[in-house]
Amino acid sequence: MHKELESLRERQQFRSITDSEPQPDGWVIRSGQRMLNLASNQYLGMDCAWAAPGLETASAGMGAGASRLVTGNHPLCTRLEQEFARFKGTESCLLLSSGYMANIGVIPALVGRSDCIFSDRLNHASIMDGIVLSRAECRRYPHRDLDRLEAQLKKAPAGARKLIVTDSIFSMDGSIAPLRELVELKDRYGAMLMVDEAHSGGLYSEEGQGLIHSLRLTDRVEIQMGTFSKAYGAYGSYIAGDALLKEYLTNKARSLIFTTALPPAVISAVYRSWQSVKGHRVRRAELQRKAALFRQRLQEAGFDTGGSECHIVPLVLGSNEKALKVSEKLQQEGIAAVAIRPPTVPEGTARIRFSLMATHSDEDLQWAMERIIRIGREEG
Ligand code: PMP
Repeated sequence: MHKELESLRERQQFRSITDSEPQPDGWVIRSGQRMLNLASNQYLGMDCAWAAPGLETASAGMGAGASRLVTGNHPLCTRLEQEFARFKGTESCLLLSSGYMANIGVIPALVGRSDCIFSDRLNHASIMDGIVLSRAECRRYPHRDLDRLEAQLKKAPAGARKLIVTDSIFSMDGSIAPLRELVELKDRYGAMLMVDEAHSGGLYSEEGQGLIHSLRLTDRVEIQMGTFSKAYGAYGSYIAGDALLKEYLTNKARSLIFTTALPPAVISAVYRSWQSVKGHRVRRAELQRKAALFRQRLQEAGFDTGGSECHIVPLVLGSNEKALKVSEKLQQEGIAAVAIRPPTVPEGTARIRFSLMATHSDEDLQWAMERIIRIGREEG
């Protein structure tokens, strides 16, 4: 262990955990210092502390006591699933623990040893781990490269089940998957399509149904996955799709079957947050307006913001050393911004990942951008 940790230190890939207490105004107290929080996934500034008292919490405790398949399924869970499916426009919805648990459970349930998975090279780690657990043959295609994907689909062995899996918004790049084209390809080659809406749920379409819904592709994506841990500011995840999919996963997804159900109090918080997020049209629009401004300012100052098209804006710096130095300087100036290094991103593309929140004030963002540009320039 010592040796491995030493090697991580040498490669500037060592990580540690810092105490952080998010504040309601888009700031965070980190190790006692107040900082503007440009490193949170609570994009709409939803603070679920308010959600716990209220809806049926009298019977909604912290311990579900058993798996959903045994005695852990609180009626609130069934109600949320039914109503959320209606909201998504799908036949059914299945609630699971975290998004990580959903991906590592659902992918191996859908495909196995003699099947093929086609995965965007920048997909989230939880998707990669689900793929490894499935033991299916995995073909990773270059980021959003539809020609390469099509060539791989053509070569898949006859008889193998085919699953294309993609993030809708790529978490470290802020780029958006070509969902319309992916739907066409999966139809042409008889594949299933799974889309991870972790970073688009709550933020796109009229009431935050997500990117698939806003593109009117609901009936054409077999497996829609999303989390309640980001824009919804709570915890938990869902799979939306047809009734057969839900029945199948209930019998086959090991991360649903062999773990204790979400605490009823958490489900209650998710329910309340979702009700509120539906009405947050203004916050959704504000988030995109602020992100566009932020991205534009960095680009005008000559910085590389990768392929960002949304509220996640990377500042690509290259070396781990440079990313760590910039992040350290930003934190000293009162900006919480984290250096993202390999293996989270490809070698040589270390970066600062900025994520905007609708609740950041224009003044605070202005203040931050001046510092980011100055420090970025100092570090070349
Ligand atoms: N998918 C993607 C694309 C993610 O970015 C994340 C979280 N970083 C997850 C899944 C996992 O979700 P959760 O945090 O709910 O486990």
